[in-house]
Amino acid sequence: MMIVMKEDATEEEIGAVIEKIEHAGALAHPIKGARLTVIGAIGDVEQDVNIEGLGLEGQPGVDRVLPILKPYKLASAQIRHGERTVLDIEGRKIGGEHFALIAGPCTVESREQTLQTARVVRDAGVALLRGGAYKPRTSPYAFQGLGVEGLRLLAEAKAETGLPIVTELMDLRDLDDVLEVADVIQIGARNMANFPLLTEIGRSGRPALLKRGLSATLDELLMAAEYILKEGNPGVMLCERGIRTFETDHRRVTLDIMAVPILKELTHLPVIVDPSHAAGRRALVPALSLAAAAAGADGIIVEVHPNPDEAVCDGPQALLADTFAEYAAAVQRTAELAGKALSAA
Ligand code: PEP
Ligand code: MN
Repeated sequence: MMIVMKEDATEEEIGAVIEKIEHAGALAHPIKGARLTVIGAIGDVEQDVNIEGLGLEGQPGVDRVLPILKPYKLASAQIRHGERTVLDIEGRKIGGEHFALIAGPCTVESREQTLQTARVVRDAGVALLRGGAYKPRTSPYAFQGLGVEGLRLLAEAKAETGLPIVTELMDLRDLDDVLEVADVIQIGARNMANFPLLTEIGRSGRPALLKRGLSATLDELLMAAEYILKEGNPGVMLCERGIRTFETDHRRVTLDIMAVPILKELTHLPVIVDPSHAAGRRALVPALSLAAAAAGADGIIVEVHPNPDEAVCDGPQALLADTFAEYAAAVQRTAELAGKALSAA
């Protein structure tokens, strides 16, 4: 259920409603909007907490009590009453009117490669630097990432360029190390349904970039986001990165561009697009990026490398550092045409 407070409800009135919900054994999630506060009251389905029976309707400061219609509660557009979540990552905004370009190498390979790429993307006005220290590779014999040393290099890149860091966490045993460096924790497509991982990231409170699984529906993606939100972490952005379809020619997977406007209907969370992993090859990345920006995406996360032929992983899809500034300018122009303000360093 959601309890919609009156616009002039006081903190005490809000607090009293929260207390009543928690006393009944349900979780209370106050969501403060620009106009009013909505409190999500969420009980375990098994426990069958009767929120309706609490008589909240007549309580001071309460306007209405409504059912949340979707199975995902805190992720649903309904709970924000039309307002959108805007994440603020060290001053870079993502969501609502704000568009953020996130760029960097697939993986951190060396100090020089990391710092060189970080400088190129900073100069092109990107908002955040991406780079993996722990890599989910199809083959266990492939490079698995530099681990803690990779995180250290990302920290150095941040110290030099000021760019906040997006990096992937695959294994809970690495959580503390990743929290030292990551401004945004990426959850890769293969871990979208790793529910204990999602729960711990929720508990950490660190903003999360949640990628859609290769065969996950949008409702499954939203339920995965719910695992993070449920722990009291409101900082979730969703990422469409391509899904498996019958079509396997000339691309890695299929970018589901429709996911952007559909997710905008279903959720208040920011929606970003990863054209690199959908395409699998560089030539497709600019067109997909413009399409995503035009479709209303709140951001794009893209791979770039100073020397893709030598890249340890995902070289064929990496944009060239040399021409990255032109690419970034075209994407940013398109985002502006779609009505967005740019988040830049
Ligand atoms: C990545 O971003 O480098 C990555 C491995 O992405 P995905 O989880 O979408 O495959
Ligand atoms: Mn990659």
